[in-house]
Parts: sequence; structure tokens; C-alpha cells
Amino acid sequence: MSSNKEDASENLELLVIPGEKLGSIEEGISEFGTYEEEGNVRAAYVGRAIVDKEQKKFSILPLTKMPVYPYKGQSVIAKIENVQNTLATAQIIAIEGLFINKSFTGFLHSSRVGGRYEKNLRRIMKPGDLVRCKVISNEGAIHLGISGSFFGVIEASCSICGGALKKTGRRNQLKCENCGNIETRLIASDYGAVRVSKK
Ligand SMILES: [Zn+2]
Repeated sequence: MSSNKEDASENLELLVIPGEKLGSIEEGISEFGTYEEEGNVRAAYVGRAIVDKEQKKFSILPLTKMPVYPYKGQSVIAKIENVQNTLATAQIIAIEGLFINKSFTGFLHSSRVGGRYEKNLRRIMKPGDLVRCKVISNEGAIHLGISGSFFGVIEASCSICGGALKKTGRRNQLKCENCGNIETRLIASDYGAVRVSKK
């Protein structure tokens, strides 16, 4: 579509909008505020493109502090509302680590959960869990996915007493610090270490 002269990489101060191409993945890696798609790095925010040619990185300095809508490729934190075997619904409460005022409903289908674990969603997440997901698509509805160790449950409570669940050291196993109940979740690598403010 656009010629090379229109690429943001030609101009360090260029204002970009979500979806705009910054350059190829050979020219730089996707950093804050950007995402990869079919070999290119694109902007996820309205803002100024920062092209670090030495370090080979692309990032965006957002113009607005609050990202207003989850875009494809962004990482979001969502609170699980309802879980069925193959579909969960969640409220997206933060985008790229920034809390948002208005939450959005996201859909997580079991086919979009990476192959390393159980496909029945009921066995890997529960209502109330905070889960870090990637936005797969935002056309029509917001579809979420979990793939790779950075994604998964980051905070969960005991289904019996509501106490905090702590990692046991066994893969995807959590234990209630209050009543000792053992539960399983598909946990992110930094489970329990993420500071999530609760209003
Ligand atoms: Zn408990």
C-alpha cells in the first residue's frame, strides 16, 4: 500500500496512528506500544514513533496517557467473569500495564490457549482470576489469547475460602495460604509478583 517514504522509520518525529507500519522486523524489534504482524512492526497507539536504529527497536511515545481501546497485539490484564469448557469472558482492566477507566469485554476461546496445557478452560482459570492475555483481534469483538510463559493467570484466590493462592513450585499448581487447598491454574511466569491495584 504505502511507499517506503511513508514509513514512520523515515521520520523520527512522525505522528502515527494504530496499525501504521513502522518498519520490518529485520529493521527493529517490537517494543512498547507496538506489535508485530506479518513481518512488520506496527503502532498500537496514537503517538510519536521512536525508531532506535542503533539498538534496532521500535516504540511509541503515546500522546494519551490512557490507551482507550485494546488493539491487536497488545498485552492486557483481564478479570475472568464466566468460564465454560471452551469459552471464557473477561473484563479487560489494563492495557500494556496501564489501568483503564472503562473496561471492555474480551472473549477467550480454548483454541487460542497455547498448546502447553489443558484445553478445558474450567480447569485452568476461575471467575475472579486476573489473567494476562494478548489481543488476537478487535474486529467486532475483542478476542484474547494465551501463548507463551508471559501470558496466563497472574493472580487468583482460593475457591473455598477466598485466601490468596501461592505458587507451590509444581507446574501450574497453587496452594491457598489460608486453608491449604490445592488448585490448578494456567499461570504466567511471574504469577504472584505482579502488582495489581484493586479499587
Ligand atoms: Zn483457602
